[in-house]
Amino acid sequence: MSSPATPREEIAGSCHCGRIRVRMPSEATGIVVCHCADCQRLHGNAFAMLVADRADVRWEGEEHLRWYRSSPANERAFCCECGSRLAKRPVDGARVMVSVGLFDRALPRKVLKGVWLEQKPGWYDAPRTGPVTPDELVATALAGPVEANGAQYGYALRAASTNKKPPGVIALTWITAADAAERERIRAHSRQNVKDFLEEPGFVSIVTGFTGLRGFTVTAWEDEAAMKRALAKHHAVAMKELFGERFVASVWTSVWTPTRVNRIWVRCTSCGALEDVNDDHRACAKCGDALPERPVFW
Ligand SMILES: [Zn+2]
Ligand SMILES: [Zn+2]
Ligand SMILES: [Zn+2]
Repeated sequence: MSSPATPREEIAGSCHCGRIRVRMPSEATGIVVCHCADCQRLHGNAFAMLVADRADVRWEGEEHLRWYRSSPANERAFCCECGSRLAKRPVDGARVMVSVGLFDRALPRKVLKGVWLEQKPGWYDAPRTGPVTPDELVATALAGPVEANGAQYGYALRAASTNKKPPGVIALTWITAADAAERERIRAHSRQNVKDFLEEPGFVSIVTGFTGLRGFTVTAWEDEAAMKRALAKHHAVAMKELFGERFVASVWTSVWTPTRVNRIWVRCTSCGALEDVNDDHRACAKCGDALPERPVFW
């Protein structure tokens, strides 16, 4: 028994005056943005397009559509009535690039890549593509302080060992940079410190970051001896600069011992029971299924 072929899902768009309509498969590749000099002149700026096989793109109202040879290798389509830029296609080639602007504003697509970035004018930033890198995330968080509802926003990062022991001491610190250049200097020290910490077996984890010019750390250690061993490394160099030079606006450090360390509770993914896993038992007491791995304390 043969099942009828499922009709392909399509997206539909149109030019500004509506005389030209276009349909193409909805799986058409995500958005490519061209910044070339031809696109700048023809579109007034970059050209965002969906790439598809020519054979898969169907035009209606083609009598209003003109192809213009914009370069020896490419031609461009526009509507003769309203002037909407519709598409670009290589003269020899099976593909066509259709203007994203013809489709619904809510089209669920992201920019996949930018091309001809070397011809991009300086007055706009190319849309970002791909996942955000840590450097980009931090740069965004630090670029301009964002304040709302009494809070200042910044970034935090966590670096953790696999040490599952409960913390015996917690170090809480903050440090204020005089300006953005000092903040970068503090961050460079901090990167080196975190490397040292990760090499210390008694290190549990650190959560650290910046909001505006204020950096903070919350660092958990198995005991004070572990903390002292780690701080004797690069951290001691940073301290020398801090007290020996005009470096940082203000600073506070502290070391805390716990009044009470409560249990870690982990939810059983099978039955939903919240299990006390301090002793690292791996089976749910309620249903017997395996529990997720016990997290480290901090
Ligand atoms: Zn039109
Ligand atoms: Zn272009
Ligand atoms: Zn369970």
